[in-house]
Amino acid sequence: MCHTCDDHPEHAPAEPGRREILKMAGAGLAAAAPLLGALSADNAQAAVAASALGQSPFPVRAYGARSAGGRIAPLQIQRRALTPHDVLIDVLYAGICHSDIHAVRGDWGAPSLPIVPGHEILGRVLAIGNQVTKFKVGEIAGVGCMVDSCGTCENCLADREQICLKGTTFTYDSPDRISGGHTFGGYSDRIVVGERFAIRIPPGMDLVSTAPILCAGITTFSPLRHWRVRPGQRVAVVGLGGLGHMAVKLAVAERADVTVFTTTPGKIADAARLGAREALLWLDAAAMRRLANAFDLMISTVPYAFDVQPFMDMLKLDATFVNVGLGEARGINPASMAFGRKSLAGSMIGGIAETQAVIDHCFARNIRPDIELIRPDQIDAAYERVVNKDVRYRFVIDFASTK
Ligand SMILES: [Zn+2]
Ligand SMILES: [Zn+2]
Repeated sequence: MCHTCDDHPEHAPAEPGRREILKMAGAGLAAAAPLLGALSADNAQAAVAASALGQSPFPVRAYGARSAGGRIAPLQIQRRALTPHDVLIDVLYAGICHSDIHAVRGDWGAPSLPIVPGHEILGRVLAIGNQVTKFKVGEIAGVGCMVDSCGTCENCLADREQICLKGTTFTYDSPDRISGGHTFGGYSDRIVVGERFAIRIPPGMDLVSTAPILCAGITTFSPLRHWRVRPGQRVAVVGLGGLGHMAVKLAVAERADVTVFTTTPGKIADAARLGAREALLWLDAAAMRRLANAFDLMISTVPYAFDVQPFMDMLKLDATFVNVGLGEARGINPASMAFGRKSLAGSMIGGIAETQAVIDHCFARNIRPDIELIRPDQIDAAYERVVNKDVRYRFVIDFASTK
């Protein structure tokens, strides 16, 4: 390198400017790494830009709780430097799932603190590791309920990463195999995730309403596929919330004959609008007797404990009641189960291939979650409304307009 000659461009110092770093970030961050080591103090601004693009661990603005059940408030978290297979996503929209509320409030055990929820994440790819092939900078990507798994166990090899035998890494409040500590979710400005766990969002897909497909959509799509719902079959959806309304839309799209059970009289008309044949109030005993042995499949999205047997009694021979809402199934009558050879099953989200499939399916069929857009400072109020069943049907946090 020539330090004295300013006359010959070919002898110019080999330090990249900000624009070059941004370009290299687009081409692959690892390619930029050796050059960044040569940065002078004059290029501090470029170093900051590189840090923001995941060259080194970097701080990120987020919303989370500092104590179990605490307020959701602004805080700062650290994201890891990009590995060669990572993508850095600028979060534009994040859905609010009832699981977020359970996790923050410690309903499923004490959360790791601070807790930053959010596992319905949609954003724009800002930078990629140098071995990433699935995304280019500027494309739209989604992240659902998980961000890592072993990749080698029989479940991972069968595209069932959500049930990794060595432990799935969930998007938040989960031990982080790569960085240590615990994972932070999508109520944040940016997220770093391995490309294997990022979902391609087709160009032209509606950005504002797509995030809820990444949990509510896949959670209800997976059992419809697994139990092979066919046109004309009778499907019951128990609970009409974020998951339930997606279950109705997805089952109707399969031309199933859908019945909804809800505790909220105001949602009866909504069920019809969503395409259900009928909607019934929870304890409508006459209707439940009329529907004995009626259903090929029931999907319960209820997140609370309830007596399941009255619903099991409405299943046909060999039919299945699938609990995706994770509410405790109480009151099972073994004799009734045996006489109808009925099954009580659970199902949890879906694998990455299946998550990509539900995104592509919803885009192709123009199936969109019904959402209500909120600002980040409205998350606490939104939680109260979710708990009070006062949301139609998913809150989505608008980070895009804060950028
Ligand atoms: Zn969820
Ligand atoms: Zn595994």
